[in-house]
Amino acid sequence: MAGHTPGKAALPPAISGALSEKLGRLGLLSWQDLILHLPLRYEDETHLFPIREAPGGRTVQVEGTIIQREVRPRPRQAFVLRIQDASGDLWMRLFHFYPNQVAQLTVGRRIRLLGEVRAGLLGPEMIHPQHRIVDAGTPLADALTPVYPTTAGVSQTRLRTLIKQALAAADLTDPLPEALLARLGLPPFAGSVRHLHEPPPDADSAKLASRRDPAWRRMKFDELLAQQLSMRMHYRERRAQRAPILAARGHLTQQLFARLPFSLTPAQRRVLHEIGADLGRPHPMQRLLQGDVGSGKTVVAALAALTAIENGAQAAVMAPTELLAEQHFAKLSAWMAPLGVRVAWLAAGLRKQEKTHCLAALASGHAQLAVGTHALFQPEVAFHSLGLAIVDEQHRFGVHQRLALNRKGTQPHQLMMSATPIPRTLSMSYYADLDVSVIDELPPGRQPVATKLVADLRRDEVTARVRAACLAGRQAYWVCPLIEESEALQLKTATETYERLRAAFPELRVGLVHGRLPAPDKVAVMGAFQAGALDLLVATTVIEVGVDVPNASLMVIEHAERMGLSQLHQLRGRVGRGSVESVCILLYASPLSETARARLKIIYEHQDGFEIARQDLLLRGPGEYLGTRQSGAAWLRFADIEHDQDLLEAAREAADEMLERFPEAAQRHLERWLPQRLDYLKV
Ligand code: ADP
Ligand code: MG
Repeated sequence: MAGHTPGKAALPPAISGALSEKLGRLGLLSWQDLILHLPLRYEDETHLFPIREAPGGRTVQVEGTIIQREVRPRPRQAFVLRIQDASGDLWMRLFHFYPNQVAQLTVGRRIRLLGEVRAGLLGPEMIHPQHRIVDAGTPLADALTPVYPTTAGVSQTRLRTLIKQALAAADLTDPLPEALLARLGLPPFAGSVRHLHEPPPDADSAKLASRRDPAWRRMKFDELLAQQLSMRMHYRERRAQRAPILAARGHLTQQLFARLPFSLTPAQRRVLHEIGADLGRPHPMQRLLQGDVGSGKTVVAALAALTAIENGAQAAVMAPTELLAEQHFAKLSAWMAPLGVRVAWLAAGLRKQEKTHCLAALASGHAQLAVGTHALFQPEVAFHSLGLAIVDEQHRFGVHQRLALNRKGTQPHQLMMSATPIPRTLSMSYYADLDVSVIDELPPGRQPVATKLVADLRRDEVTARVRAACLAGRQAYWVCPLIEESEALQLKTATETYERLRAAFPELRVGLVHGRLPAPDKVAVMGAFQAGALDLLVATTVIEVGVDVPNASLMVIEHAERMGLSQLHQLRGRVGRGSVESVCILLYASPLSETARARLKIIYEHQDGFEIARQDLLLRGPGEYLGTRQSGAAWLRFADIEHDQDLLEAAREAADEMLERFPEAAQRHLERWLPQRLDYLKV
């Protein structure tokens, strides 16, 4: 079957112009796409309920004779009809109707209704049911009627017809090995799609609707398998490339170990070991290092970078914001300069001359470590011998960027770091193209952060508390509200808050930092705060990621109800870094909405980032959890990684097995499920 491409058979030319454009909007470009356009739900037109016995709360079909009808002008114009069968009668009420409907629906006509029965003022009624005139003995549907996701201008009838055609025209062969299906107890492909599009008369409609039917399981498995296959293929392709062997030599890493004021936690040692093993192989590492806020990822990154440098290779550390990149630069320079390592800084804001200088140092190999923002991975940047690329706060970059990095000519080893804890299911699905290491403990001696929820009205008490803490020699953050609609407004709010607090605390040294501050000013302010020359730092959410000032032990977050849970967790992680007991005060505008209350309760009750992430995922679902930044990923339409965890695990296993033993079948499966993705993956 080589060269066989079920995914590519385009729609016939008869479907053209406006319709095909609308179908395109639904993602329906080929017969295969139509086959995989599965019903949202079903309507049951296979049998009639006697009117008296029709249950409420769901869509039912009844049939009877019109015995009364009138157009009522009040209270709101309505066409009202009374329908009777042998068991009883009900009212049908139409608020939108045409003169010719009034002309046709006359007393004595037989009519079939599909809708929900409710208790009305005059007895049972259906409001705007689907209805049609029938003869006595008009046959009933012999299968449940599918209802499809659609868009304006494509009717259900149209879709049903097209999908019927597709079922006849498309290739429905099953690429999956029979033994695999048998082992997983999954039904064949053709039977499954037929079952879902045209369920047999005896199909259990409740089971179909709940998507627990075996045919649905097959579809979900297929979808998950396609996702796993595409990501594992990508993993293997990169894995097959070559990378420099960066063996542990130790002369630099041992020096840093000796100089650190702390010893590594067992978890840090374990992940370092995993990373070291990867670096020692001739294939590019593709590892994600996960660790909760404050778990100490930076020092792990530094030791990995030193391993590269020991081998005569260069290393690069990229951070998503300039603020964070600068912090890394300061910290890494402080660690590495005494070892004689030359560190270069590259960000968008550099002056031309500095930039030229930096680029030259990277190209000649003079600079051994580069720290910066996205600017590091612009095409104009050429490294002499990049051995290791480290991306901090990886979740801030999209999947596309992750892939793009990998396409640059020579293959460095890659280490991505993320403090957004991803629950296992999500990580299995979303990070299937990476190896994952987890730092699952915090350095010893950390005090848990006491979290307080305070209504806005009690702002004065909070102000007093901040003053007292600062006068007692502690440092504090005051985080201004997130204003998503307008960056300008956010800036204004931050500036006003700063002015207000400066006026309120004449005895304190107050600083301001926000995203628009010129880079040197930002460095100056952060430096002053770090050195203890500022007591209070007013900040926008730019400090969300990575900022590390251990002496800061109090944080106030305004309008906490506007922020996402992981964002709050990240922000709160800026305190509780030293050994002093820390407090985080979440100010909220009352009254709180139901969901806002639920979210704040989670952050109030939990300190563990993974638990917060799990709850957040349950509250929001994966798409929203990962955010639009990650929308590069082909997301799941049918499967639900929480509820279909068994299928996800099976798909993960099957994907590796198929790539190993049945690569052609894997290819065909992908052509059916992810034809676009397949093109995209061709490197
Ligand atoms: P994150 O994982 O959030 O990036 P950092 O790397 O910024 O965390 O580390 C947080 C703080 O903990 C830093 O001040 C760092 O120097 C310190 N730290 C890291 N590892 C240890 C350790 N094993 N023992 C004590 N402190 C540590
Ligand atoms: Mg960090």
